[in-house]
Amino acid sequence: MKAEWLAAGVALLPPLGLWASYPRRSGAAGIVFGLALAAGAALFAAAPGHGRAAAGLTALWAALGAGLAWRLARRREAERALLVERTASVRGQRERMAVELRGLKARGLNAELAHREASALYGMVKSLSEALSWEDARPRVEGALEQYFGPRVEYALYVAGLRGEGEVRPLTVRGLRASPGAAWATLERLLQEQGAAAAAPRVFEKPERAVGMPIKEGQELLGYLYARVPEGASSEPFLAKTQSFVSELGVAFRRVKLFQEVERLSEIDGLTGVRRRGAFDKKIAEELVRAKTFKTTFGLMLLDIDHFKSLNDRFGHPFGDQVLKRLGAVLNGLVYDTDFVARYGGEEFAIVLPRAEPAGALRKAEAIRAAIEAELFSVGFEELRVTVSIGLSHFPRDAGTAEELVARADAALYAAKSAGRNRVVDSDALRRMS
Ligand code: GH3
Ligand code: MG
Ligand code: MG
Repeated sequence: MKAEWLAAGVALLPPLGLWASYPRRSGAAGIVFGLALAAGAALFAAAPGHGRAAAGLTALWAALGAGLAWRLARRREAERALLVERTASVRGQRERMAVELRGLKARGLNAELAHREASALYGMVKSLSEALSWEDARPRVEGALEQYFGPRVEYALYVAGLRGEGEVRPLTVRGLRASPGAAWATLERLLQEQGAAAAAPRVFEKPERAVGMPIKEGQELLGYLYARVPEGASSEPFLAKTQSFVSELGVAFRRVKLFQEVERLSEIDGLTGVRRRGAFDKKIAEELVRAKTFKTTFGLMLLDIDHFKSLNDRFGHPFGDQVLKRLGAVLNGLVYDTDFVARYGGEEFAIVLPRAEPAGALRKAEAIRAAIEAELFSVGFEELRVTVSIGLSHFPRDAGTAEELVARADAALYAAKSAGRNRVVDSDALRRMS
C-alpha cells in the first residue's frame, strides 16, 4: 500500500518540477529533479518483487520528466541572460551613437560658423579689391566688419598715411562706449614710443576690454584695428579671430594705397581719361615757351557743361560721373594727337590746340560743341542730351601769359553762359563787342 502511494507521489513530481521551474527558476526545478531521483530510488526499493518493473518505469518517468523541466528552466534562464546582455549592449551602442551625433552636430555648427567667417572674409577681399580710394573702401570694410564680427561689433579702424606720411587717421568708427580717442591716444603713444613696427597685437582692459591689431604688409604699418571684445566672449579667441580678419585687410589696404600713389603720380584723370589740371598747367607754360621761341600760335578752349548741377540733382551723382566719363572720351576722340585735353575742374575741361589759327580753333570748338550736343545719354527709360558752353582764347592774339590766356577764355565762357549756353564765344569777338 505504501509503495502505491509513493508511486503516485513520484508520478506527480514531473508536473511539479514543470510548475516549480516557471518562469525561470532552475534552482527549484533542480531540487524537484533531486527529489524525483531520491523518491524514484526509494520507490524502487520499497516495491515488492512483482511490482519492481512498474516501480522502475515510474521512477524513470519521474526522473526524466523532472530533469526535462530543470533543463528547460536552465535554458530559459540562459536565453534571458543573453537577452539582457544584448539589450545592455544595444543600449550602450545607442548612447555612444548619441554622443557621436552630438559631436558631429557641434562640429557641423563649428564648420558652419567657420564657413560663414571665411565667406565674409572672401567677400571682403573681393569687394575691397575693387576699391580704388579710401572713400570707396570705407563702406566695404564696414560691411565686412559687420558680417564677420556680427551686427553689434564696435570698432575704430585707422589708416596710416591717409593724408600724409607718418600720420594715422580714423577711417571709420562704430559704437564704442568710450570715445575712440582713448584707443587713439594709446595708439599714438605706442607709435611715438616704439615706432610703427612695434605696435603689436594686444588686449586692452581699459577703457573697455578690446583688442588692438596693427594692419601690416611686411614691415609696413598700413593701419590699425581696435575692436571691442563682445560681452561674454573671452579675449584670446577674439584676438585670434581679429588676427585672421586683419591679415586679409593688409593686402587690401596696400592695394588701395598703391592705387592712390599711382593715381597721384599719374597725369591722367581717373574718371574722364583726360589729363589732370596739374598736367595742363605744365603744358600751357611749355606751349607758351615753344610758341614764343618758334613764333607759332596756339588756341585755348575752356569748356563747361550746361546745367550740370541740375543733372546731378535729377539723376544722381553717379550718372553725372558717367556723363563726365563719356565727355572725356568724346573729347579725346575729337582732337588731334598733338592737341591736349585736360580736366580743368569738376565739370570743366581745357583744351590746348598747338599751332592752331584763330579760325581753325573756332571751327574746332564749334565741332566739339555740336558733337557733344549730338550725344545721346540714357538713364532709366529716359534719353537725354547734354550741352556745353565754350570760351576760346588765342596766343598771341589775346594775351602773352598763361594766366591771362586762361582769364580770357574764362571770360568768353562766361559770356557764352550769359548768352544762353550751348554755344562757343571767342574772346576776340568779346573784345570787339565791348
Ligand atoms: P552752368 O550751366 O551755369 O554751368 O550750370 P551748372 O549747374 O553746370 O553750374 P556749375 O558749372 O557751377 O556746376 C558745377 C556742378 O558740377 C557742381 C557739382 O555738383 C558738379 N560737379 C563737379 N564735379 C563733379 C564730378 O566730378 N562729378 C559730378 N557728378 N558732378 C560734379
Ligand atoms: Mg562749372
Ligand atoms: Mg556747368
